[in-house]
Amino acid sequence: MSTIFIHRFDVVQPSSLEEALKILAEEGESVTPMAGGTDVMILIRDGVIKVKKILDLWPLRSQLSYIKREDGYVKIGALTTVTELEKSWLVNDKRYAGFRDVIIGFATPYLRSLATVGGNIGTGHPLSDIGVLLLTLDAEVVLLSADGERIVPLKEFYLGKRKINRKPNELITEVRFKEAPGNSSTAFIKFDRRRGHSMGYVLVAAYLALKGNVIEDVKIAFDSIGRPYPERAVKTESFLKGKEFSLENIRKAYNEVLPTEMSRISDYRASAEYRLDLSKVLMKRALLRAKERIESR
Ligand SMILES: Cc1cc2nc3c(=O)[nH]c(=O)nc-3n(C[C@H](O)[C@H](O)[C@H](O)COP(=O)(O)OP(=O)(O)OC[C@H]3O[C@@H](n4cnc5c(N)ncnc54)[C@H](O)[C@@H]3O)c2cc1C
Repeated sequence: MSTIFIHRFDVVQPSSLEEALKILAEEGESVTPMAGGTDVMILIRDGVIKVKKILDLWPLRSQLSYIKREDGYVKIGALTTVTELEKSWLVNDKRYAGFRDVIIGFATPYLRSLATVGGNIGTGHPLSDIGVLLLTLDAEVVLLSADGERIVPLKEFYLGKRKINRKPNELITEVRFKEAPGNSSTAFIKFDRRRGHSMGYVLVAAYLALKGNVIEDVKIAFDSIGRPYPERAVKTESFLKGKEFSLENIRKAYNEVLPTEMSRISDYRASAEYRLDLSKVLMKRALLRAKERIESR
């Protein structure tokens, strides 16, 4: 029998972004923003967190749900849902095909219609598919408060498990990344036991840019390298950069370099050894998939 924790809390629905920021400026710490609620509601239901007041951001979707190209950036509004990503041009652009991989393995159709991009990084959880992919695109997080705008690189946004670089008076309004060059592509792989219903064991995303057969640029992110949040494998990346794209070099990277920077945990779901082995195999597959995409017409 499962226990359901019931506690009372207020819900406030702002009619505009300005009103939402005003509420946060006045009540900060005691207000919890909620986008799709697919994470925060579960935590409340399971008694993991107690909230006093929920700031329901859903009414702001007309302002904060978009996917656009502007000033050399791809900009995604924080309240854009996974379903909206699925229907957008983004998944048909081979440079950003990693989003297609994310969507295919992301929860269920109903969850995808609620889960937002801002909420995905807002969880601060290592197993955040969108967050892991966005790290390889060097994404930035746009935070807005009554005091103005703050832009934080995604790699500095995660501070700890479920701890993010957000002040209590701030809202995540946008995630953006610079347009990737034409000789690049992305891939994402999640190893899961039951597709759509559970968190993955290992998540990996890769961004690859090739000049001929030489690795011009590469970025590799995992759900964790050693800390309990999505991170980049920077040593492995610098080993590969400038080298020929060959199975031998990739094998060296995952056998000789990755283990020097990656420290996996054991828990009831999988051992550290198994997670490390899986990380190596999936890293290779993600790089091969990205290469295949670059070469496809
Ligand atoms: C059955 C199930 C399956 C799932 N499967 C997956 C999966 O396959 N992949 C995956 O990555 N995740 C999965 N999740 C987790 C969750 O659905 C995602 O992380 C989702 O993207 C969260 O978005 P949300 O809009 O629902 O966030 P919410 O629950 O609304 O919020 C999450 C956190 O972010 C904060 N927040 C949200 N929006 C903002 C904002 N604009 N400004 C400031 N703070 C904000 C909230 O305060 C909260 O702390 C699953 C969850 C469930 C219940």
